[in-house]
Order: sequence, then structure tokens, then C-alpha cells
Amino acid sequence: MKCRFCQTPLGNVFLDLGSAPPSNAFLRSEDLNAAESWFPLKLFTCNQCLLVQVDEVQRHDALFSSDYAYFSSYSRSWLAHAERYVAQAAERLHLGPRDLVMEIASNDGYLLQYVQARGIPCVGIEPTAGTAAAARERGIETVEQFFGEGFATEFVQARRQADLVIANNVLAHVPELNDFVAGLAIALAPKGTITVEFPHLLQLVAQRQFDTVYHEHFSYFSFRTVQRIFGAHGLRIWDVEELPTHGGSLRLWACHVDASHRETPAVAALLALESDAGMQDMAWYHDFQPLADAIKNDFLAFLLDCKRAGKQVVGYGAAAKGNTLLNYAGVRPDLLGYVVDASPHKQGRHLPGSRIPVVAEMQIRETRPDFVVVLPWNLRDEIIEQLAYIREWGGKFVTAVPHMAVS
Ligand SMILES: [Zn+2]
Repeated sequence: MKCRFCQTPLGNVFLDLGSAPPSNAFLRSEDLNAAESWFPLKLFTCNQCLLVQVDEVQRHDALFSSDYAYFSSYSRSWLAHAERYVAQAAERLHLGPRDLVMEIASNDGYLLQYVQARGIPCVGIEPTAGTAAAARERGIETVEQFFGEGFATEFVQARRQADLVIANNVLAHVPELNDFVAGLAIALAPKGTITVEFPHLLQLVAQRQFDTVYHEHFSYFSFRTVQRIFGAHGLRIWDVEELPTHGGSLRLWACHVDASHRETPAVAALLALESDAGMQDMAWYHDFQPLADAIKNDFLAFLLDCKRAGKQVVGYGAAAKGNTLLNYAGVRPDLLGYVVDASPHKQGRHLPGSRIPVVAEMQIRETRPDFVVVLPWNLRDEIIEQLAYIREWGGKFVTAVPHMAVS
């Protein structure tokens, strides 16, 4: 196994979560008599470029089946984030009707709808049939393809280069990292800008977010490592923002090395912040496993105490994070009766691995649970506000990461 960026052999374990099925492999009732495919979930740190990464690339078709059920538009706070970003980018880059915006992994058009509303031409690149179809229903042109060097070359020959290329929460999910970043450089117009958002490895460790580790999430980046990867493909990062999304993300603004965008002070400041935190030192990467184990053990102890006391515990949010936590902790429906999710595409199915049923929110009003575990802790405030009525019967909210909290 070699580093997916610099090809150095990998030997340093960052985190070992045992094995689990792909986090989006939801089960139908008729699947419950069949076996599931479990894959090791183990991360390594490259001692050369410090890229944290999964040790083995699963086949695309195993991870992104046609049943892949994540529709971005089901989260209100995520839509608000997308709308704010489009307003900012359109103003900062002076985008207008002569420009082209390309979004990679455009999902159901949750973001491009705001680009289109401003009269700016746009195209989405989205490999998943279900979400691509949903985007087209909104009138957003969507090409059903995986993005990479080959795709970008063909697209540019047939059409044109993009003035803004958006890649939000996709860089961490690409198995062929060099092929993807090379494609970004090809798709980008000479004076254009690429913006990329991804969870920041510094925050993952500081906030103990081990549950953001799952198979489809191949790479975990420091700012310095991404700068190095972009530099290897002729791209230069001229600004960086720290965002609260996904527990702490970075948004990069990048261009071709010879483009005129002036570098902001934020670039040097963030490099210094990472160095001060110790991220240049391998020791920083060795201390994460015991932190993850402590969270898992505390969560499991809480569920066992509730079980013995006859308390009913359920979950909210059938997202990848929840599956990592539940499968690593070995939680099954006897300890967590069901998980509610707003997406009708997940309701009626079962979570992969744990096989906990996914139901609609009305179940909470009907069964009046003592505790609701908020699995996507990044949406904690939104979910607690939405479910505030559980207080009527003394219900409480629980989050397990970064430590057990009951409120
Ligand atoms: Zn490397």
C-alpha cells in the first residue's frame, strides 16, 4: 500500500476502527436475510507528505451503488450554507452571464440552484443517477460522470473551461487524488478560480471526530498537505477560510500558478497555526486512537446503563457519522431501537451493519423515548430545535462526540 499522493509506502497507523460495511449501503427489508460486505476501516499517515488516508481503495461500484441515498437538499442548514457561499463567490469573482460555473459532485442541485437563480450559466457533474435526476428536475444541467483528468479534457474540448470550479466535500472522497486535481487544473480557465471545501484534519483531531472516518472518505487533509498536492499540479492557493461546517472545514480559493490573484495573509497564518499545533511532527498523528476508544466506551456504557434502567433510547440522523460510531461500538437495535431520518429515501430501510431500522419522525411522538441521540452532531442545534417537543415528556438529547453530553 502506497500513499495516494506521493507513492511512499504506508506503515504508520493513524486510526483502526475494525471493519464495517460501506456507510451508504442501507438495507431493504428483503435484504435482511442476506450477508453484507464488511471492509477494514483503518487509516494511515504518510511519513513523507503527512496525508492521512484509508489503506485500501474499495471498488467504486461497491461504495456508490444506485441506491446511494444522500440528498443534500434535505438539510436546511446546508442549503443556507450553499446560498451564502454562492452570494460571496459571485460578488468576489464578479461572476455574470458570460461566465461558466462548474460544480463537481453537484448532488441534487442544492447549490447550483442559487447560481442559476443569479443568471450565471452552470453545469453539475454528478455520478449518482438518483441525485443527478433530481437536479435535472430543477432544470440544472447535470452530466452523470465521475470527474477526473480524462473527463475534464473531454469536457473542455467539447465545451469550454470554467471560470469557477466548485468542489465542495468531494476532494476527501476521490480515490485517484492526483487524477482529480489534475482534472481541476484542466477544467479551469486561465484567470479562473477553484474553491474546495473539506473537513480540516486539525479540527478532526482537536474535536475528536473519529466518526467522520468511513470508507468513502479516502483522505484527511491538513492545509499544508493540500497546498503541496495542488502545487504539484500547477495550482496555487491564494486564500483560505476556516468554516464551522462538518465540525470544522477549510475553504480554499485556488488558481493557476501564473494567474494574478494576490495571496491573502490567511494562507501564511493557517500554515503557522498548523505548525504551532505540531502537525509537522509524526508524534501528533500517533495519539488519536485512545481518544476515539474513550468516546466509544463512554457511549456504549451509557446505552448499557439505559438498557438496565429500562430507558428507551433512539437516534436521529441516518448519516455516515452515525454508522461509524454505531458499528465501531457494536450497537444493535436492542440498545438503540430506531433512527429517525427526514429523507424519505432512507425511511423503511435499515442501517448498514447495525441493521437498526430507519423511520419517520412521527415515531418519536408515538413512542416518547427517554433519550434521542443526535448522531450528526454538526447539525445538533438544528435538530434539537426541531425536536424540542420531547421535553414535554422529559425527553433528553444526547451527543457522543467529542464527549458524552446529555441535555
Ligand atoms: Zn504521501
